[in-house]
Amino acid sequence: MSRRMIIAGNWKMNKNSAEARDFIAELKGKADFSKNVEVAVCPPFTSLQAAASAAAGSAVKVGAQNMHWEESGAYTGEISASMLAEIPVSSVIIGHSERRQYFGETDDTVNQRVKAVLKAGFEPIMCVGETKEQREADKTEEIVERQLKGGLQGLTEEDMKSLVIAYEPVWAIGTGLTATPEQAQAMHDFIRKLLSKLFSEAVAEAVPILYGGSVKPGNAAELMAKPDIDGALVGGASLKADDFAGIINAC
Ligand code: PEP
Repeated sequence: MSRRMIIAGNWKMNKNSAEARDFIAELKGKADFSKNVEVAVCPPFTSLQAAASAAAGSAVKVGAQNMHWEESGAYTGEISASMLAEIPVSSVIIGHSERRQYFGETDDTVNQRVKAVLKAGFEPIMCVGETKEQREADKTEEIVERQLKGGLQGLTEEDMKSLVIAYEPVWAIGTGLTATPEQAQAMHDFIRKLLSKLFSEAVAEAVPILYGGSVKPGNAAELMAKPDIDGALVGGASLKADDFAGIINAC
């Protein structure tokens, strides 16, 4: 079956409003949107509005990088669904390894955030992936299975229709080290089989699984050619319109 193909850019803590506007204007001129590829950029919260205005009427969607599960309250530094609905965003990255590593994100908080994102009608892009030490200790599958089971706890088959998974080996993020297409495919296949066990064959077949970790215009085509890789979550190379367009056009 054919699944949706998605290329999403995670800008992390980069780009102010003017830079976001300029990037989207440039991307519109450089990326080929005639292909069956969904394109999204995920700016910092303060640039979301500018990005959404610049993207209005185009094929570019706008997503956030995080969201809290409560509607309001004493959660300094967090942002809620109704705040993101003001933009509005279409997707929210949840459980990125930098949030897990630096900001105490756990499988349990990932799960709460994913549920809130779904309830708000946005699409969660839930990130999973092992560290270098975990891979070297032969624990990759165990770790990814635990993150998936924890993050997806309590979700229904219906919920899974609106969810995207990003497999991002931590050792490949921002390091220039990309998983080989074979290594990535093996993990995507593992994730899909696990989805089949946790939910159903239909869910496993339908959920887009993106690869993330030093994706660039030069390596995108061979990664995307693998049967279980349905797109990419791109960090560094999503900051330059030329590179991001190159990745989109390589699909
Ligand atoms: C990311 O942060 O999601 C990512 C994949 O980063 P990079 O492309 O820079 O490795």
